[in-house]
This record gives sequence, structure tokens and C-alpha cells, in this order.
Amino acid sequence: MTERFVRVAVDQPMPVQFDYRYALAQPPVVGALVLVPFGRREVVGLICDIIPTSDVPAAKLRHVSAICSACAPVSEAWIALAAFAADYYQRGLGEVALPALPQALRDASRWNRLFAVEERFRLLPAGRVELPDALPARASALRRLAEALGEQASLGLSDARALHPKASATFDDWLARGWIERAGADAIEAATSAEPAANVPLPVLTDEQREAVDAISRAQGFAPFLLHGVTGSGKTEVYLHALAGLLGARPDAQALVLVPEINLTPQFEAVFRARFASLAEGALVTMHSGLAEGERARNWLAAHTGRARIVLGTRLAILASMPKLAMIVVDEEHDPAYKQQEGLRYSARDLAIYRAKQLDIPVVLGSATPSLETWWQAEQGRYTRLTLTRRAVAEAALPSVRLVDLEEERQRGRASVDGLAGPLIAALKTRVERGEQSLVFLNRRGYAPILSCDACGWVAGCPRCSAYAVLHKPERALRCHHCGWESRIPKSCPDCGNIDIAPMGRGTQRVEETLASVVPGARVLRIDADSTRRKGSAQALFSDVHAGEVDILVGTQMIAKGHDFRRVTLVGVLNADTALFSHDFRASERLFAQLTQVSGRAGRAGLPGEVLIQTRYPRHALYQALARQDYVGFANSTLAERRDARLPPFVYQAMLRAEGRTLDAALAFLEEAAAAFAPLPGADRVTVYDAVPLTIVKVFNVHRAQLLLESGSRAALQASLRAWQPVLRSLKGVLRWNVEVDPLDV
Ligand code: ADP
Ligand code: ZN
Ligand code: ZN
Repeated sequence: MTERFVRVAVDQPMPVQFDYRYALAQPPVVGALVLVPFGRREVVGLICDIIPTSDVPAAKLRHVSAICSACAPVSEAWIALAAFAADYYQRGLGEVALPALPQALRDASRWNRLFAVEERFRLLPAGRVELPDALPARASALRRLAEALGEQASLGLSDARALHPKASATFDDWLARGWIERAGADAIEAATSAEPAANVPLPVLTDEQREAVDAISRAQGFAPFLLHGVTGSGKTEVYLHALAGLLGARPDAQALVLVPEINLTPQFEAVFRARFASLAEGALVTMHSGLAEGERARNWLAAHTGRARIVLGTRLAILASMPKLAMIVVDEEHDPAYKQQEGLRYSARDLAIYRAKQLDIPVVLGSATPSLETWWQAEQGRYTRLTLTRRAVAEAALPSVRLVDLEEERQRGRASVDGLAGPLIAALKTRVERGEQSLVFLNRRGYAPILSCDACGWVAGCPRCSAYAVLHKPERALRCHHCGWESRIPKSCPDCGNIDIAPMGRGTQRVEETLASVVPGARVLRIDADSTRRKGSAQALFSDVHAGEVDILVGTQMIAKGHDFRRVTLVGVLNADTALFSHDFRASERLFAQLTQVSGRAGRAGLPGEVLIQTRYPRHALYQALARQDYVGFANSTLAERRDARLPPFVYQAMLRAEGRTLDAALAFLEEAAAAFAPLPGADRVTVYDAVPLTIVKVFNVHRAQLLLESGSRAALQASLRAWQPVLRSLKGVLRWNVEVDPLDV
């Protein structure tokens, strides 16, 4: 038998793959997982190539130890996708490909157990009759289990365990009593129709929606669409129709739907589940970091085998293995959550475009406020623009935006209470009287961002970070939002002993307190990262809002995301001005998107909505555009500024960041790196800026600095970054460094 060799990618921070001898009985396949010796350990890797000979000296070549036969190999297209991401984001293929697989697959000892067919159970006629009476009255978990068995053709053990932790023992008992039986794996019907469930009344599409759906459905091959629709215009309905058309016409086709956040917006998933209820069980799966490991593995496998027709996921789902992928949807494509900020710093939105191109399929990017990168592509005609200008619900108009001039309020001597201006208080009172709901939005949690002493100028700071410690009143603590440091609130100034230390500025907790006193009788609820720390609590709080048990909801951008609040007619915005003068050139784009998003929560169901923005700069172009509901004007003028200033999307950027024990160490590393960059191929077409400390230079006692690189040529930037990698790896003196391509925070 001729000797065989395979090239294997392993999860190591190296851009190379490794050659191995292959002498197992089962033939090697590209895309299969293998167990290989690596140094003194054995690791799981991915076969990327089967090669006739290897350049590695024979004495150094080792043997593949085992090959995974529990699941089919990933496709060559998937490997190509991972390879593209690795190349583009300056990583090794193994570093991208292996972390994209479920944890259980990366552990060879679990290969065989993991994909063993799950036990399933089916209710028998005797159980249907006897079970309900046999259960104790208060055994609600048992009751849920019995109901689930009654409703579904068969129930898998893991789903049963989610309903009742002792499901396994319970089933043994019920089996013995003849109430249930074991069901074979064939109880999971093959994926069948994608017809909408008969009992769900479908809304009649508006003309604009219909045109959008038709355009997407007509698309042949690679077809990028920008679905630009105002808030409440029914973008989701467009996705649903386009997907139903595709899945109905092609019984094996799969679709990937990306959302910025799943846990915060369960409505989105609920709508999909209801609409595609007739799909076989397991044909719609979710993928996000909140899933338990076992479920994540099962869902991954469902996508990989083609049983899942729709994958609904957050950014990590862009690397799902989907052999029959036929359409990608990216909802709220402008959302920064699509950018991974650690490890492989990828943009799921950008990878979605690449993947669609690679597979020659349509991709739909939806947003009320597209990113300027996407808008620019549409302006140039590279993406087809589909526009929804009106809200879908006939009576729902876009809310009117009113700017409350804080300076004028002050000059006229009109009272504002702890940061809430008179007009906003009056508007809130009116809503409470009418039984309507209001949102108050400010992007700062805690009680007050600063606690200080008037007498000596002391300010509470984090001992580990170059940042203020935020006052948290309900928790009676000072907290650092960067490293988690926490301490009790001092009773007096630690420097001079003055007992009169005072909070400055306001966060959501303080606004909550103020609202309760200025709008007496109002039921105020706060939603932010602090009030939703416990798992599931955000959902519980949001359902209180939907149930009408809340008059005023105050919160951070958590309340701005895609919720369809039916009774909200007023949105108040506090403290937005700070973002106007940020040194980050994307701050205004983000602010416009956020304010549009939160404003879009108002006036969804017939009652007119109003947005009040408190500001010292009512004439600022951003607020003026917002008041006119003029995204297009804002986008085009901001793009013109970016073009003049030579900023993205007119140039391409990359960032080298370094973390050191001292700032000097971090800066010295960057300066050395910059010096080594100059002679590299392509470097003559790249501008290297000075190394600078980050705004918050110290976090958890680590000092951070960054070096910006910029070029008009993507190819030159990529080539020079690639050549730079080995140089960077050889430099010493810092704790960590990373390169980010297309950084969002500059
Ligand atoms: P967007 O994502 O564009 O902000 P949504 O998809 O949340 O908007 O839709 C807003 C509301 O309009 C939802 O309650 C949705 O059910 C409803 N809706 C969408 N399309 C229609 C339609 N054609 N007729 C009636 N209601 C619709
Ligand atoms: Zn003091
Ligand atoms: Zn800190």
C-alpha cells in the first residue's frame, strides 16, 4: 500500500498546518476531524488536504492517531470560508476552524458518545387516559412533561430534562406502568414542508414589502441586498416571506438568519417559530453563546447534517456548517454586536457577504440605519437597495421628534428636576394619565458616574484602572465598569475626612429614583445590565412591560433593541450629547442609529408617538436630521465628511494593540513593530500613525496602547499585515498583542 499523508490544521496561534502520516483503515477525507500527536499532547485537528508526499523529513513525521467517524466531514466550501477568515483577519486556519466547532467535537474522547442517537419517548393511549389523573395536583413540572408528551409525536430526553430535571427516572417509572414507550430515531420526521402553519393568519404585505420580497425571490446567484426600512416597516415580514418561498421551493435548502442578540429579543425567535411551526421538529435551531454545551452541539449537528432548515443565530453562527445554505439574512446589520471583540476579531456581517459570494446565493442586510460601509456599497450600486419608507401597520406613523433645548430652559428659568427638563416631565405625566407607556433612555448604568469631594477635589476611582468608580446606590457599592472592582461607599472623603461627598452626573438608577418622585404614582421599571444580571430576568422584566404593568421604562441601549412595544407613545432621551464630541469618528453614526432605534419603539400601534431629546445643541446637524427622520441626508453628509477626511469606508484600517505592565513597555513594543513594518512588501502604500495610549489606558493593572495603520489599498494593507506577523511574534516585552482588521473602535 502506498503511503499517505494528510495536512492538518490545529488550534494553535500559528499560520501553518502540519503534515502527518496516515495509516488508519478508514480512508482519510478532507474535512474530517482527526486526533494527532502535537508536541507532548494529542490534539484534535481538521484534515485540510490529502497530499502525495510531504516536505517534512520522514523522521519527523508522526502518525494520525484516530479519525472521527461520528459525523460527516465538513465541506471544502466550509474550509475555504474558514481559510478566508483566517487570512483576512491575520490568523491561522486552525485558530479559526476549530473554535468554530462545538466543544464536544474538539474532544476526541467524546466523539462516539456525543452523537449516539438520543433516547426518545412516545405517549401511549393508556398514558393519555391515566396520566393526567395520576399526577399530584401541585406537580407542575411533571404536568409540563406529560403535556409535552401529549403535544408532540415524541419527546427527546434532553428536551424532557429541560422540563423536569428527573425526567429520566420519571420515564423509567412511566415505561414500567405502560404509559409511554421508547420511540425510534425515525420518530423525528424528515424535514418536510415550509408552508406557514394554517392557524397563523399572515399579514397582507404592503406594496413596498411585496416588491422587496419579489426582488429577493427573483435573485439568481450572488445577490447582496440592502433592505433599508424605517423602524416598524416590517422588515421581519420580508425575511419571513423570502425564506418561506425559498424553503418551500427547495426541500433541502437551508437559510441562515443572523441577529445581534437573541436573549434580549425573544419575540424575534417566537415569530420565526410560530411562522415555521409546520417544519419538522429540529428544523429551526438557534445558535448563540447562551446555549448549554449539549444543545449547542445538537444544533450544530442539525445544521451540519442538513436537518435544520433555518439557523437563527448571533454572530458566531456565521461559521455554522450548512451544506445546503441557500440564503443569508443579517438583521440590524449596522449593529456593533456583529463584530467579535476578542480572539478572532471578525465581522459576521462582512463574512456573510463573503460566504454568500462564495456560495453564489442571495444575502439580505436589513436596517433602519445601515452602517455607512453598507450604505456606500449601495450608493455605488454594488448592493441592490430595497426601501420600506412607511410603517407596516396602517395607522402607525413614525413618531415626531422634539428637541428640548436645555440652555433655553435654563435661561427662561424653567425648572428641571435632577436632569429631567420640564417638558419631559410634563409629557411623562400626560402619558401616565392616559394609561400609555413611556421609555426613558440613557446610556449609562449605575446611580452616578462620579462620586467626589467638594472640599478637596477627591474623586472615587478604581485602584486597578484609570477610570472612575461608578456609584451604585441599590447595591450600596462603588463599582468599576471595566474590571469589576467593587467596594463599599465611603461615609466620608478618604483624603480630607469631609462627610459631604456627593454624586455627580446621573445613571439609570438615579433617573429611576427621580422619576418615582416627579411622576407620583407611576410604575417605574429599570432595565440595564445590573437589573438583569440573573439569567432570564430580562425576559421577565420585558414581559411586565408588554403586559402593561409598567408606566415608565428607564434603561440603557438594552431597551432600544428590536422590541415591538405596542403601548409606548413617548420616548425621552437623556445625556446623548456626550457622543457628539467623541474623538471616535464612528460615534455620531452609532448615536444616530441608537436614537433612531430607541425612537422607533414609540407609536407602533395607532397612537401617535413622540420623542423628546434633551440637548444643549439642538441645532446640531445630527439632531436636525433625526428630527426630520432623515437617515439618507445624515448618511450622505457623513459620508462626504469621511471622504474629505480620508476615513473608512474610503480607506482601510487595521489596528495593532499591545498590553504591557507599563505604558512605556506597550509603547516601546508598538514603536519597534512600526519600525519593522516599514521595509515590508506593500508597506510603502500604508500610513502608520504614532503609537498612542488608549483613552482608558489602564485596565486591571494592564497598560494599553495602539498603533493605527491605514491604506487606500486593501491588497497592500493585507500583504503587509501578513508579512508583519512573524516579525510581531518575534518581538518581546508585552503581555499580549493583537491585530484587528477593520477595527470599529478607533
Ligand atoms: P421592523 O423590523 O422593520 O422595525 P417589524 O418587522 O418589527 O418592523 O414589524 C413591525 C410590526 O408590523 C410588527 O408588529 C409586524 O407584525 C407588523 N407588520 C409587518 N408587516 C405587516 C403587514 N404587511 N401588515 C400588518 N402588519 C404588519
Ligand atoms: Zn475631601
Ligand atoms: Zn477597574
